[in-house]
Amino acid sequence: MNADSSLQATLEEHFRWFHMHPELSMEESGTSLKIREILSGVGVETLELGLETGVLARVRGTEQGGEEVTVALRADIDALPIKEESGLPYASLNDGKMHACGHDFHMTSLLGAAMLLQKKQGSLPGTVKLVFQPAEEGVCGAQKVIDTGLLDDVREIYGLHVAADLNPGEVEVCAGADHAAVDRFAVHVTGRGGHAAEPHHAADPVVALAQFINAAQGIVSRNVDPFDRAVLSITQIHSGTTWNVIPNGAFAEGTIRTLCQNTRERMLKRLREIGKGVSLSSGADVQIDIENLSPATDNDPELAAIVADTARELGMPVVPVVPNMGGEDFSMYQQRMPGVFFSVGVGSPRPLHNSAFIANPAPLAAASSLMAALAEKALRRIPRSKPKPPV
Ligand SMILES: [Zn+2]
Ligand SMILES: [Zn+2]
Repeated sequence: MNADSSLQATLEEHFRWFHMHPELSMEESGTSLKIREILSGVGVETLELGLETGVLARVRGTEQGGEEVTVALRADIDALPIKEESGLPYASLNDGKMHACGHDFHMTSLLGAAMLLQKKQGSLPGTVKLVFQPAEEGVCGAQKVIDTGLLDDVREIYGLHVAADLNPGEVEVCAGADHAAVDRFAVHVTGRGGHAAEPHHAADPVVALAQFINAAQGIVSRNVDPFDRAVLSITQIHSGTTWNVIPNGAFAEGTIRTLCQNTRERMLKRLREIGKGVSLSSGADVQIDIENLSPATDNDPELAAIVADTARELGMPVVPVVPNMGGEDFSMYQQRMPGVFFSVGVGSPRPLHNSAFIANPAPLAAASSLMAALAEKALRRIPRSKPKPPV
């Protein structure tokens, strides 16, 4: 067995374990323990992250003079509240929980990268931090990791996500945004209830909410550049208790996804304006609460080109990108430091977040090699300031 196939066999074994033991956001204690065990088994140092879950590891090479340079590789580790229906022999043992977003693949490939970097420790010209981030699906884990301050010294960061619709081992990478900004909004309508037969004595929150929803659906078609991409979805509405009573209030919730910051701000402004307009026209009070979750990903153009070149060098085909309107809190790191988030194909018969999603583990070793190579290239490329002469 050559080195690559032996790494692949080791990683597949770990991948199956992670797939069988999915844990939800901020509950990843068994997963974190397993990651620590695997890392300590191959001599990789782990640092105290100070969060309930998640792991931060470090491979320290030898500095080549001048300041110490650190780069980071990131994988997310949480699963989803989905009952698995993949039919896999290594399906989830945790009922109602499933690695349906491929985070089992992400953390396994990062473990592979750690193993490869550890072997090269003697010739590595700097330090690589390996971030096993909790709670990506809850869209708060990246911020928690950043708030520890343990990535303050990181100069570049790389992360990957599996792509269900690409063939195993194909790589998709672009400059700029390929995952959308995520905003969540809630609409609280306060009207004045009354008899269904006497609407003129009431301020009907149901009609007001209906007007709001119809008007909000016009934002993408009337206020967004047709060459830009944006989505507005209203995903729940609640009001009333029976057929002959006009209720006092109504509630709706939804999300806006955008790739461009200007479009994001414009859509949120229009949402508030529509709320005010409907308040005036309906006589019911419409309040909009907006929660800005994560910005769009923002890949550094030069580094994205390096990812594509490195993938090709490793024999991984690079295919054109179709931007994804899903969110990804990797973007929080990219607010702090240059980085690239790219996709690796796993050829699933079903999409991400589907109960029959299956990540083909065949490209695990290749994904590990790509991550390790990106870290090593970054350490060789990032300029050092000259050491200060003695005084
Ligand atoms: Zn997901
Ligand atoms: Zn994911």
